[in-house]
Amino acid sequence: MDIFALYQNEQDYPDLKEEEAVRHLSEAVQVNTTSYLDTSRIDYAAFDELHRKLQQWYPQIMKEGTYQEIDHSILIKVEGSDPSLRPALLMAHQDVVPVVAGTEQDWQHGPFSGDIAEGYIWGRGTLDIKEMMIGELEALEYLLEHGKKLQRTLYLAFGQDEETIGSGAQMIASCLEREGVQLEFVLDESGRVSSGEVYGADVAVGSIGIYEKGYADMKLVSESVGGHSSNPFHGTSLQLLAEAITTICQNPLPAVLPDCVKESLRILAPYIKEGPLKEYVQDIDAHEQEIIAYYLSKEDLNNQIRTTIAPTMISGGSQAGNVMPQKMEAVINFRLAAQDSNASLLEHCQKLLKEEVDPEYIMANEASRVSRYDTFGFALLQQTLEHYFKDIVFVPAVNTGATDARSYEGICDCVLRFGPFLEDREIRKKGVHGTNERISRRAYLQGIRVLIRLMDMAC
Ligand SMILES: [Zn+2]
Repeated sequence: MDIFALYQNEQDYPDLKEEEAVRHLSEAVQVNTTSYLDTSRIDYAAFDELHRKLQQWYPQIMKEGTYQEIDHSILIKVEGSDPSLRPALLMAHQDVVPVVAGTEQDWQHGPFSGDIAEGYIWGRGTLDIKEMMIGELEALEYLLEHGKKLQRTLYLAFGQDEETIGSGAQMIASCLEREGVQLEFVLDESGRVSSGEVYGADVAVGSIGIYEKGYADMKLVSESVGGHSSNPFHGTSLQLLAEAITTICQNPLPAVLPDCVKESLRILAPYIKEGPLKEYVQDIDAHEQEIIAYYLSKEDLNNQIRTTIAPTMISGGSQAGNVMPQKMEAVINFRLAAQDSNASLLEHCQKLLKEEVDPEYIMANEASRVSRYDTFGFALLQQTLEHYFKDIVFVPAVNTGATDARSYEGICDCVLRFGPFLEDREIRKKGVHGTNERISRRAYLQGIRVLIRLMDMAC
């Protein structure tokens, strides 16, 4: 799929200062704001440097709005004139993931070079997600420079540690909560665009995340006495563990068609021209079981409707072929669908397993709350995206990864996850958290146009 074939209205805002916007992103990338779980490794001076730059680059925002640092996170507020309108909040995060040691040489342009070359801005954070942070600031500065007077209050919120523990977003959200703020909508990164092929549709599909799946790492431990492998009469710990893993994988919790998936099929129905879904979408409720079976059979769809099970780690095996292992451990990673809870998943696994293998969580987060999509915010985002991208239908969807956005659930019932910077799929796949992360000028500038229009219409 050629993502750029979907672009339109790139001529909007002809006086947008494109070179300046590109240079700001380039310079922001050069400031190494890598996040580490071990906070002693974080270079907080780099965050301070980034903050100084942002305050310099956006004089109009600084003049008309308030700029606040909460720990190293940033909250910007531009007050609207109509207090009866609930504020909107646009998010991003300042931090980036580390460059994997030993891969620095594989970058065509250094990970913190911010090089502007071959039509791209290069470096860590250009796709995740400094382009969104700088893009939001460019968009707001543009509007204020052009004399825009906001009716609805607008917040920009940039966490400091989304890639690790997300404490920044939590602090900002609780700060707003204390002030009694209730938000109309929140926009964060994530979401995706795919060709409509898997649906049999003749349009591309833009998935706007309305909730995030849960996350659980479950540890399984098995023990056996070990010894000489010539008499494995009671089986080995490895055998027990393998059986346990297989049992869990073969007995998933039931898949359920969430309302947002049904709604997305209703929206897509007129565009579905071939394949089994064509008939099913004529009456979704009557064909629910067939639709579930279809989704489960597709790599691109199955994880939207069920809790996934991925055995990821195993340790403690014997060092020799003729020696039986003793204590062994495995980890299974689950991504929980909204209908399942960590407690119900654990209970389910306990029932499945023999007494010899005891499951327990190393860590477990529930799925986020499901946002509403019959809302002003969702419709506005949909319309704005449709203005800039043709032949894409935007639908509410499940987010299979995690973001900072869930921190705002307490003060907003419409938390949307969709980054408007639509880059080529291959570049995105390799670049995000990978090597040669880069964004094309074209994707970057178009994303800024989306944000300008979105802020303009929302506020
Ligand atoms: Zn991110």
